[in-house]
Order: sequence, then structure tokens, then C-alpha cells
Amino acid sequence: MGKLNVSMLRYLTSEDFRVLTAVNRLDRSPFQVPSGATVIVCGLSVHKLLKELCKHKLLSYERGKHYDGYRLTNQGYDYLALKTLSSRKVIASFGNQIGVGKESNIYVVEDCDGNPLVLKLHRLGRTCFRNLKEKRDYHAHRNKAGWLYLSRISATKEFAYMNALYDRGFPVPKPVDINRHCVIMELVKGDPLSRVSHVNNVEALYDELMDLIVRFANHGVIHGDFNEFNLMLQEDERPVVIDFPQMVSTSHPNAQTFFDRDVTCIKDFFRKRFGYESSLHPTFDDISREDILDVEVSASGFTKRMDKELLAQLGLDESDEELDSEDDTVEDKDEIENLREQVDVTMNLYNEGERKDSTSESIKPEVTSHSGSEE
Ligand code: ADP
Ligand code: MG
Repeated sequence: MGKLNVSMLRYLTSEDFRVLTAVNRLDRSPFQVPSGATVIVCGLSVHKLLKELCKHKLLSYERGKHYDGYRLTNQGYDYLALKTLSSRKVIASFGNQIGVGKESNIYVVEDCDGNPLVLKLHRLGRTCFRNLKEKRDYHAHRNKAGWLYLSRISATKEFAYMNALYDRGFPVPKPVDINRHCVIMELVKGDPLSRVSHVNNVEALYDELMDLIVRFANHGVIHGDFNEFNLMLQEDERPVVIDFPQMVSTSHPNAQTFFDRDVTCIKDFFRKRFGYESSLHPTFDDISREDILDVEVSASGFTKRMDKELLAQLGLDESDEELDSEDDTVEDKDEIENLREQVDVTMNLYNEGERKDSTSESIKPEVTSHSGSEE
């Protein structure tokens, strides 16, 4: 799981890339090719390409009750993002994996000048799509949000917050670029606090971390996972904060609980690791809203709705009811765009005369109801 097969990047052709991109755009429904049909992309039989891509585990073929379909695998999605980032000349080569989290894989990569960078592949809700078997489930699936979508919004959120925080002088890695579920950022030189057994000035570090929690809150946000694994300690004993997908707003109904939990994490860690106890620690009442990051973050394309879906997946949702009540409406621009793309791609993939095939019905009825101008 999660292993990156880099040689694949050199081996696969632009046709492979096109087909994978097409399947990716259909990420909320299984991609189907009617059996026996000859579907041509770039003058090549898609069937053959699809089979090849399955062999390389970039696609998987899944059997359902009513139809079978191709799906992008984790590896296929990785491939698309890495290919995009390398054609943008953001990354030039790959190094070692340095971290495996619950929800991510971390690699060291290099830019074109050989400088190290960190690549974080977000991996969320990996099991959701297995339930996808029929059209009815397709809707349920959409509402629960598929793993591609969740991984992508997790990365989008992380990148947006990292940008906003970095601009305001917070000690976070410098964000470099993002594509799909992949975030590229500065490599922090140092160790996670979890691996640090001695610091020269324990009190100074404690104060700095508590100040950071308050500074975050003064900007309207709570890190939500402010612990020794998400705090890197540099040589000069200055901390750098990482890992942002679970960040919550100070206006979240449970904001105080999240705030207190971050504070308690640091208190407990300092007591256990350094035998340090301070009578001082910040409280939620200490915060004075100076500047709210949320506005900037939502301007970057990360919407409230996406955040709700992500927080629901991470178990930090405000209330399920609210999300459920929105299930049947597609208000989100991104969502509509996604449906449009699905049509375009389907039209491109299917040759004239093959469109009458009814197997693509899981896509078409969705679309006609939202974009009446389609033929
Ligand atoms: P997760 O969400 O899976 O916890 P993190 O962003 O916390 O992912 O990263 C996991 C681990 O990878 C971290 O504990 C740290 O050791 C390493 N890591 C992540 N980002 C960086 C970075 N920018 N520089 C150096 N190490 C990093
Ligand atoms: Mg982490």
C-alpha cells in the first residue's frame, strides 16, 4: 500500500495519461466501456489501453451487480499527480519515503536544481468506493464523497492553510505546489518533537508552542492535532508546525474543546518527556480575534461544503444532519464543473454511434438535469 512506482512515470505514454485522466474525471462513477465496442482515443483502442493500465495496477476492474467498470487505483491517481507536477517542472526526482501517517505518505523529492522538497500524498477514505456496486449506491457514494475527492480536498485544504499561515509569518513549511492529492512543500530540517529527548531551553519551547496555539486562534483557527508528531524541531530549537487537514475554525461549535485538547497535548507531553510543568497555559478566553484566515482560505477554492465533508470524514463534523439535508442539491460550483467534465470526457471517449449504448446511463441522467444546454 502506498508504494510509489516511479519507473512507471517514464514508461507510460501520453495516451495512457489521457485515458487515466478521463477515468479520473469520472471518479464519482465507475468508468464503463461497453463490451465489444471499439472505443478509440488518439487512434488507439481504449480496451487495449485499459487492460494495460490494469496490468500496471493504475486501474482496477470491478464487478458490480448491474455493470462492471474501471476505477482509478491509488497508484493511478498518484501517477496522474506526479506526472503533472513533473511536467510543471516542480519535481525532478524521487527519494525515500520518510513518513507513513494514517492519512498520508511522505516522500523526499528533488526540484530541478537538486534541492530537496517534501511530497505529501493525502490518502483519505480509501475504503468507501468498495461499496459502490450499483446506480443507487452511486448516489450514496457521491454524498459520502469518494476517496479521490476526499484526498484531493484534504490536500487542497492543507495547501490553502499553509499558504495563509506562511504569508502571516507562522512557522510552517513553505508551500510550493499542489496537484490533486499531492502537496509539495519545503523540507523541514529537524526531527519531529516525538523523537527529541533533550532540549536546552524547555521553558522557552513550551512558551513558544503555547503562544503558537493562541496565535492560531487569534487568526480564527485551531490546529486540532497539535502534538509531538506534528511539530518539527529545528537545530536552533525553533518549532515548525505541520499537518493541517484537520484544522477547525474558532467558530466551530466545539472550538473550545479542540483548543483545550491542543493545549493539553503540549502540557502532557512536556510533563512526560521533559518533566516540565508550568502553572501557565492559555485558555480559550485568552484569544482576541485579529484576523480571520477562513476568508482567504475559501477564496482559494476550498469551500465550506468541502470542509464539512472533510471534517465529517475525520470525525470532526459539526452535525451530520446539516450535511445530509444538502445531499440532494448540487450547489457547489466545483461539483457542477465536475459533472460537466464527465460529459465532455464521455463524449470524447465514445465514438459516434456508440453513444446509444445504455451502459453510461449512470452519468448522463445526472448531467442533463444540471446543464440543459448539452446536446
Ligand atoms: P499525517 O497527516 O499522515 O500525520 P504529516 O504531515 O504529519 O502527515 O507527516 C507525517 C510525518 O512526515 C511527520 O511526522 C514528519 O516526520 C514527516 N514530515 C511531514 N512533512 C514534513 C516536512 N515538510 N519536512 C520534514 N518532514 C516532514
Ligand atoms: Mg501528522
